[in-house]
Amino acid sequence: MAKPSWDDFESGDLNRLRDKLLRKQVRFQLYAFSPYYRKALEGTQVSTRGFNGIRDLKSLPLVDQSALAAAPDEFVLKPEPHLIQRLGSGRQLVDVAMDKLFGGIERSTKMLGSDYGPVHTLETLGTSAEPVPIRLTRRDIGTLATQGRRMLQVAGAGPTDIVLNLLEPVASGGFWCAWLGAVAFGIKQIAPGYVEPERAASLAKSSGATVMIARAADVLDVLEAAGSLPDLKIVILAPEPVGPTLKYRIHELAGDAVDIVSTYQFAEGRAVWAECRQGSASAEAGFHTYPDFDVIEILMRRSDALAQLGQPGEVAFTGLDQRGTALLRYRPGDVATGGIRTGRCPYCNRNLDRVIGPIRRTDKLIPIHLKESSPMEMDADVVTEIMAHPGVAAWSVEVITGSEGSGRDEVFISFRPSKRVNLATLVVEVDARLRVEAGFIPTQLIASESITPGFVDRRPSETRRLIIED
Ligand SMILES: [Zn+2]
Repeated sequence: MAKPSWDDFESGDLNRLRDKLLRKQVRFQLYAFSPYYRKALEGTQVSTRGFNGIRDLKSLPLVDQSALAAAPDEFVLKPEPHLIQRLGSGRQLVDVAMDKLFGGIERSTKMLGSDYGPVHTLETLGTSAEPVPIRLTRRDIGTLATQGRRMLQVAGAGPTDIVLNLLEPVASGGFWCAWLGAVAFGIKQIAPGYVEPERAASLAKSSGATVMIARAADVLDVLEAAGSLPDLKIVILAPEPVGPTLKYRIHELAGDAVDIVSTYQFAEGRAVWAECRQGSASAEAGFHTYPDFDVIEILMRRSDALAQLGQPGEVAFTGLDQRGTALLRYRPGDVATGGIRTGRCPYCNRNLDRVIGPIRRTDKLIPIHLKESSPMEMDADVVTEIMAHPGVAAWSVEVITGSEGSGRDEVFISFRPSKRVNLATLVVEVDARLRVEAGFIPTQLIASESITPGFVDRRPSETRRLIIED
């Protein structure tokens, strides 16, 4: 019987496959060859050979961005001969022995090189000043091509499509995944990177592009410059947060015949995950991950325990087949506000885990506990979007500890109204959006002339200022 396709395994078979891949990756790659994980996993079930698979993952240590940024080389797999002897799998030992026998020690080192020698580097953008290098080997490039092909398939592209790839070929974004994916798929591709909207529109017309992949703001510019693009069927948005207003404007300009698919990626995980085309109009479709390449866990924000299915939480990523920079239970600093869904997608019927967005950055979430409400997180990005109201000229948000002994916080939002705005209407509107979209009612909304823009957290333990990028 033919092996099922990657997205069509029966759940029992898929779980067994993933357990096996994870055991191999953890024991014979990470524990054996990763300087960081060899130390981190000492004394765990992995070193005592009691690690069985995904259900045991939660007992292994979590890793955050700062650990990776502090020593990125420690996460790169280095299969030294003495490590293969001591910790390698039977298969690895046989491979090395055969190579030595027939080719001598030089050849065996070369063989390992093609699997383990980095040939390409991606970079995390993260929050740190310096980008962190993520090393990929030749094997990883092959994997990235497969992942890119799957991304295009999930987004609804087929072999007769023509892709216009307007992503910038920078090390942090999704360009290489999309580019390699189109090559692996055998789809015709035009990949000029970023070009002026007029030039992109004329390329889209002359090539008859049916799929456009670009940053949301660029898509809007190209659609405006083009007037109409009758061949266009699918827009794949670059992996970055896109507000509902921008997405709506793209939809309006592109027309009903064009599906708009969002994606999610962080450079450490390498792959781009897309919504399926069939579910792209629904917030519930989620980003379709690749079950034989990644394990995504969703952690509760306060305890780091696993969240229930569908509950919001922080993303932790484990690669099942990484060489180069290889990661286990790594937190890229993202929160999936819709958590994770497992099993078959109700829209496209693929059997895989789906990460449900919108995705938020952990460093943009400010924990607050207001009077008469449960503890929650104020999302600085959502508040920023609400306050970008045409009637507001400037604004600031201040979080303070409430009056003595209450143990609760207070949130003051000050704003300078634009000229000729009806203040009462503006306050009602902003207040309603904060309530519905941001999920809280500020202690006070204050019209003021002097504003120092941005967020300030003045609680004793938290004093910090969030920079608002705009
Ligand atoms: Zn789907």
